[in-house]
Amino acid sequence: MAPSELQELCDTAGSFHRRGYAFGSTGNLSVRVGPHVWITPTGKPLRDLEPEHLAQIDLQGAPLNGVLPSKEYPFHLLAYESAGPGVAGVVHLHSTHAVALSCLATLDESDPLPLMTPYYRMRVHPLAVLPYFRPGSPELAEAVGRAAEAHHCILLRNHGIVCLGGTIAEAADRAEELEETAKLFFLLRHERLNLLTPDQRDEIDRAFRTGRA
Ligand SMILES: [Zn+2]
Repeated sequence: MAPSELQELCDTAGSFHRRGYAFGSTGNLSVRVGPHVWITPTGKPLRDLEPEHLAQIDLQGAPLNGVLPSKEYPFHLLAYESAGPGVAGVVHLHSTHAVALSCLATLDESDPLPLMTPYYRMRVHPLAVLPYFRPGSPELAEAVGRAAEAHHCILLRNHGIVCLGGTIAEAADRAEELEETAKLFFLLRHERLNLLTPDQRDEIDRAFRTGRA
């Protein structure tokens, strides 16, 4: 019988597709279960997936069940390797507002989003920004692996986002928070913002600190 994590991965993928966070055949999700990684298949939409549609690979990328994995499987594997045993779920999306943010020439890569809400601070911050690399390339995988040493959330220039979590649900929460924060940013981009103060930020960190950098 398939572990419950596999059904949860399929349900999460379908939910992303239904709600427009993933479209066409974009996006890929994985879970680590013991020594194996289960990842969404290549070239298929994230909707209507069942556990038997997932590719099973080992931590070196060797195929174990005959299903072709997403072409981005190398960055999933390096993210797990770098992040260590506390991470067991990875989400990659091309969600619209986060991709729009990744395309801004004016983006401050050291501080990509203003501190508008406590939830961004709790679930996303610190957000790493990586330069553009070709999708599926070893250079992209290596860069994601390095960023995953100290970040749960990564913005890929001109491409999308990668979010890590202790479970697929936690990774999905982070991805949704990042996409919605990017949406808020564009809604408010030309307004004067009332941001959280340093004291308010520090209070959040004391109460809810989850970031690793
Ligand atoms: Zn992608």
